[in-house]
Parts: sequence; C-alpha cells; structure tokens
Amino acid sequence: MSIQSEVEKRNHRKLGQELELFVSMEEAPGMPFYLPKGMLLRNELEDFWKREHRKAGYQEIRTPIMMKQELWEKSGHWNHYHENMYFSEVDDQKYAIKPMSCPGAVLIYKNKRRSYRELPLRYGELGLVHRHELSGSLSGLLRVRSFTQDDAHLFVREDQIRSELHKVLDLIDLFYSKFGFDYKVELSTRPEDFMGSVALWDKAEGDLEGVLKERGVNYHVNKGDGAFYGPKIDFHILDVIGRSWQCGTVQLDFQMPKKFECEYINEDNEAVRPIMIHRAIYGSIERFMAIIIEHFGGDFPLWLAPHQVKILPISDAHFQYAQGVKSQLEREGFRVEVDDRVEKVGLKIREAEMQKVPYMMVIGDKEIKGEVISLRKRKGGNVSILRIKEVILKLQEEVNGLNSKAN
Ligand code: ZN
Repeated sequence: MSIQSEVEKRNHRKLGQELELFVSMEEAPGMPFYLPKGMLLRNELEDFWKREHRKAGYQEIRTPIMMKQELWEKSGHWNHYHENMYFSEVDDQKYAIKPMSCPGAVLIYKNKRRSYRELPLRYGELGLVHRHELSGSLSGLLRVRSFTQDDAHLFVREDQIRSELHKVLDLIDLFYSKFGFDYKVELSTRPEDFMGSVALWDKAEGDLEGVLKERGVNYHVNKGDGAFYGPKIDFHILDVIGRSWQCGTVQLDFQMPKKFECEYINEDNEAVRPIMIHRAIYGSIERFMAIIIEHFGGDFPLWLAPHQVKILPISDAHFQYAQGVKSQLEREGFRVEVDDRVEKVGLKIREAEMQKVPYMMVIGDKEIKGEVISLRKRKGGNVSILRIKEVILKLQEEVNGLNSKAN
C-alpha cells in the first residue's frame, strides 16, 4: 500500500468519527468534544500515566485554570507568550487562562517552608491549558486550542540534577516502549530571546548534554531553539509508517525559581535556591491520542481498546446469559459491551469488526448448555471454546503482556 493511502486510512479525524471517539464542533473551534468511547481511551492513557508516576515517586497536584494577570507578568509569560494567551476579567481584576502549568506548581512549592530533605520534589499535573492557535491551522486532535499537558515540575538540589534527569529519561523510555515507539532526541540551546545569565545557560546545557552522553543516546543539536527560561531536550516518536512527531520534552530551568524566590533550607540552615525541571511525556493528551489512533490505525492493543470485548447473543433467549458474562468480566476490570439488538449474528460480528473490538463472544444455546464461551479474536478470526475462567486468564495475560506493537 502506498504511503499516501496508509496516511488516509489512518487519518485520526476519520477514525475518530468511525470509532465514535471525539467530534469537533463549530460551537468551540479547536476544543474537542470527547464521546464515551474516546473518554475510555483517554482515561486509560491517564490511568497508565498516574500509575507509573506514582511508582516513580511523583505526587499529583492540580492548579487553577485561571489566575491573576500579575502572576503571568512575574513568570515572564506575559512578555514572552501573551499573544498566545486568553484573558478574562472577574470583579474588575484581570485574569489570564493558563497556557502552561508552571507558575501554579511554583505557588504550591512556595506554600510552605522547604527543607533539603524534601528534595527532589516531583509534582505531576495533568493540566488543562489554552493556547490561541490561528483558526486555519486547527485540525482534529492534532492542533487544538485547549488541551491537557501531562506536565510535571521537579524541584531539585544542584547535586540532584543529573540523577533526576536520568530518572526522567528512564520514565520516557518506559512510556514510549509501552506503545512500541522508537524515538529521536534533540537538544535545543539558548535562544536569542533568553532570560538570565549566559553562565547559567552554559551550565544547564552542559548538564542536559552530559546526561545524554552518559546514556550513549544519539542526539541532534538545535542551536537557539530552547525555551526562553532554559535549554531543553525534545523527544520525537516514530510511528509505524515512519513519520516523526514531537511529544516529550525535558527543560532545565534556573530562572523561574529565581523570579519567584523559591528556597529550601540546607543542612547548615541556610536558604538555597532549588532548580526546576519541567517535563512532559505524552506532550498533550489530545495530540498523543491523535498519534496513537494513526499509529495503530484504530486497532488498539487490548489494554487500550475502548471496548475490549463485545458479547453477541444470538437471540432474545441468550440475553440474560450474555449479561451475566458481562458482569463477570466487568468485575475483573474489563470494558465490555453487549450487542442486544434483534439482528442476525453475522451482522453483529461484521459491525463489531468494523468497530475494531479486539474480542467477540458469541452466545447461543450451545454455549449456555456447555457453560462455555466461543471467543473470537478479531484479527485472524479463529474461535476458541473456553470456560469463562479461562477467558479471563487469557485476557488478563494479554493486557499485562509485553509492549504493544502496531501493524
Ligand atoms: Zn513548566
């Protein structure tokens, strides 16, 4: 198949509609509406994120979507970013809708006196942000005006920078391999419009580059492409048809802790400034969803599929048994749907196939009598006759199995 037809076949807007994942509406350009199945997929991405971040020692926080304009003036976003921001007014006070979650995390850090023993502090936030994009550039979930960043802000001591960067890079490895993505790495250095001193920038760039070298990672340097507050490493994932997408980023920041006078108390009872690491792995949940819809062509691995199993009773007489099987599977944490329409089973199978549901279970007299299930795998179409316990074990094994591969 040619690349062009592969691209068309995998188009996430088309699949988003066919698989009933999300819709775009005139009432809110660039701000997607999630349908129930899209939310199942999205929640799975968020649950995986939350689980792995807890394991990696992160604490989850949530900060307001709208904060006073002075805060953004102080953070530097007003000067460097205000053309992309939305504003509002409440009780004659000027507010800005957050385009990034960093200042909120800083306010939480400053909410109490910090000791060196607390560091590194790792705050994760699935933060809803708004950024103004030109209406002509909006597209499905790829270019939007409102999205959730899987952000985290780490407050670290100077002696912890490198070890924390290694841990962040380990986590990025774990995430991308879960989806079967290879990736490329780029190091972006001091831009013209930079904040702070050249010496600090050199140190930050040296730390990022040092860690990449220690890991033996191949990387490309983008001179002058860093954020205004610090240099960064960007991660470009490669999808199954060879396209590359920028997703993750890790940024080292000496500026924001200084602007906001963040401190911790060291062993000698002196106040010391921490360093901030900003990082995201998915980048934005919306964009990442678009990428995996296209990468898998809507044919998601079992752990991600919005509905993992579709139960197809042959006639009315089999509905009750089908509902019982559904409850048993749901108790084990599976996402299951019963097609209880009065239709021919052949049609039900065809439609479940078009919906790309990984497993189907046909229930008829034979199954009820034998207390078994005819389990039909969508890919390959082979049918196995199993007891419900065996089905559960088989599905659990597949959900917890190796990293996902796309075709
Ligand atoms: Zn940030």
